[in-house]
Amino acid sequence: MRRRLVLRIKGTVQGVGFRPFLYHLATSRGLDGFVLNDDQGVLLEVEGESKALTGLEDAIRAEAPPLARVSSIRATSLPAAGHSGFAIRESPRARKRRVPISPDAATCPDCLADILDEKGRRYRYPFTNCTQCGPRLTIVRDVPYDRSRTTMADFVLCDACRCEYEDPEDRRFHAQPNACPDCGPRLSLEDATGIRLPARDPLAEARRLLAAGHIVCVKGLGGFHLSCDARNEVAVHTLRERKYREEKPFALMSVDLEEIERHCFVTAAERELLLSRERPIVLLARRQDCGLPEGIAPRQQYLGFMLPYTPLHHLLFRPAPGEEPSPPTLVMTSGNRSDEPIAFKDQEARERLQDIADYFLLNNRPIHLRCDDSVVRLFRDRLQVIRRARGYVPATLPLFPGTNEPLLAVGGMLKGTFALGRGDEAIVSQHIGDLENLETFRSLEEGVVHFCRLFDHDPEIVAHDLHPDYLSTHYALEFPARRKIGVQHHEAHVAAVLSEHECAGPAIGVAFDGTGFGRDGTLWGGEFFVFGDGHFERAGSLEPMLLPGGEAAIREPWRCAHSLLLKLEPNGDPFARLPGLGSQVLRPAADLVARMLARRLNCPWTSGAGRYFDAVGAILLRRARNLYEGQVPMELEMLAERAPAGTAAAAAAAWPVVFLDAPEEETPELPAWPTRFRISIDQALAALLEDLRSGTPESVLARRFHRTVAEAIVRGAARLAEEEGTASVALGGGVFQNQLLLGMVVDSLVSRGLVPLLPRDIPANDGGLSYGQLAVAAWELRSERE
Ligand code: ZN
Ligand code: ZN
Ligand code: FE
Repeated sequence: MRRRLVLRIKGTVQGVGFRPFLYHLATSRGLDGFVLNDDQGVLLEVEGESKALTGLEDAIRAEAPPLARVSSIRATSLPAAGHSGFAIRESPRARKRRVPISPDAATCPDCLADILDEKGRRYRYPFTNCTQCGPRLTIVRDVPYDRSRTTMADFVLCDACRCEYEDPEDRRFHAQPNACPDCGPRLSLEDATGIRLPARDPLAEARRLLAAGHIVCVKGLGGFHLSCDARNEVAVHTLRERKYREEKPFALMSVDLEEIERHCFVTAAERELLLSRERPIVLLARRQDCGLPEGIAPRQQYLGFMLPYTPLHHLLFRPAPGEEPSPPTLVMTSGNRSDEPIAFKDQEARERLQDIADYFLLNNRPIHLRCDDSVVRLFRDRLQVIRRARGYVPATLPLFPGTNEPLLAVGGMLKGTFALGRGDEAIVSQHIGDLENLETFRSLEEGVVHFCRLFDHDPEIVAHDLHPDYLSTHYALEFPARRKIGVQHHEAHVAAVLSEHECAGPAIGVAFDGTGFGRDGTLWGGEFFVFGDGHFERAGSLEPMLLPGGEAAIREPWRCAHSLLLKLEPNGDPFARLPGLGSQVLRPAADLVARMLARRLNCPWTSGAGRYFDAVGAILLRRARNLYEGQVPMELEMLAERAPAGTAAAAAAAWPVVFLDAPEEETPELPAWPTRFRISIDQALAALLEDLRSGTPESVLARRFHRTVAEAIVRGAARLAEEEGTASVALGGGVFQNQLLLGMVVDSLVSRGLVPLLPRDIPANDGGLSYGQLAVAAWELRSERE
């Protein structure tokens, strides 16, 4: 007997070759009916003998194309309607839009073969793609996902491409960005003054210019890169100077894995990550004899490498037969000047980057959404996303707990992101950058509007940081929504980890970072929470110290050092016995800070662990300033890694940490006490200074400092875990990007029978705040309902 089955398929099912896949599946089973994309995903209606219909759902799940993510299939059985033949139908014009769009995906092996096939019609064509690969999020203007609603709209398919596009048997069937040299986007090459060079083959010319040591600005998938030959010391140096980027590491792209392995150690898991279709920048341990100029990443033990992810990138490395070889590794750093967001429009790139790049390799396919390269690393073979953008966004993440109301969270200030939440799903935006200038702020505004449109989201509730001066807070407060929820920074860090692990508590949360706005108006950043029943209790913290100059001190770790030294030795001259550091600080500046501290002028209290790392880093490294965010703490970690093996036993022991119990009564004007304890590491720091003066190597001291902070974290967490009868300890905040510290903490927690929960797809740093704010808001709404 003939039956009819209507299947409603949800998830990432558009723009990933799903309809052609269903076409094949249905026709191979002799089924009649149709398939179409609509606002909810894919609708499949099939009709045939019962036997041909059984197991269809399982087959859809099991054989779905690689980029697809089926989240649910709902089947309805109906009497036959008399379909004959199988068709792919037009998308109905959407009213309600709820369709996840897939992230941009790296060139697939078939397309790579196409561009290297001398006889093929796409030989060396840099915009080749198919249903399995190519641009997605970065070219979508609107949904449903269809060519007319992408930046490919103006390119009219030629006959050959149209045949592919309409042929269900073809790999490019309904590949929206499908293109070829006859009908698709083209390259052009300009010099810095905007004059187009009459190059017959702009790519060959760009390769030649790179090989000759020039800086070429390359328009890529989600923005512009500044590129030069990574082995050319002069070019690397020039790029740094012109970009006003003193020491922040440059990202690299190599022709293949073998080339990367020449410079870095690559484990099997890292190899897989480098080759994944997300193609992130992966931080890899550099070889001693890495063979690249120091200027790429001064004093770094890790280098950020990625592999080519568009045909254009592949071709940048692969000369045509008979041409000169091109550099096997290129610097590929974001096309921006120091702290601005990456450029993504042609005119903008010309204007902003003409003083940096010698040449511009452009093309006429517009980029609709700015999207940086993602940065990831492995911690003991487990993924840790540091910057989540191209390749990962807008894949959905679990939101735990779920929400009945549509939510928006706007994140913090540094490493800004925003997030949409509905049901049990979250969509987190790409990395937007530090919300310190108008340009990034506009990215936030436009990004929210764009994502709300793409994902048919109309936020009723907006979550934001408690900091009254963040641009994101202002934005949230002015957003036309029914309700605003202020979320404490460190609660958001912990909630992000708990949500990723779908942990309902009770759990202990440790949030260690630089600084974030605390509930008492001071700057927090070394916090211990008890989480249960959807509620956070701030149970412990590091002992606060004074931060001369407030958040400005974050760029100048010597101020933190000064504050600590004066606390430990109130009558001493802090820098007199640390000449290496003292000589970098002007005397009047040091005196001013001393006066500020004495009079408590513009000296907020902070319990930020990052500030302790700043202080100790400044002292041990003799470095007064951070040339980029987190530089001194990062170099302190590397210094500790170099502690000589012979003294490992001495280096391994922690100095004493002291628990102070919360007093019965608060002292007004001092920071609020957590409910249970503070941890003082003053004794440890005094011991560190003493050992430093008696000649213990800095690396050993750096290692013992790490050990001491780890000890403070583990003892604080273990005490609370015991008091609460839980084993789960969530670790959030940027300090946990420190691999050495994280390793010590994880090992020690595990040895005490505790279960560390670590951030994974969501960055531990402030890039994860928006996601955490969603979770905190969802918990709050849930407890109000009950
Ligand atoms: Zn492909
Ligand atoms: Zn064509
Ligand atoms: Fe933070």
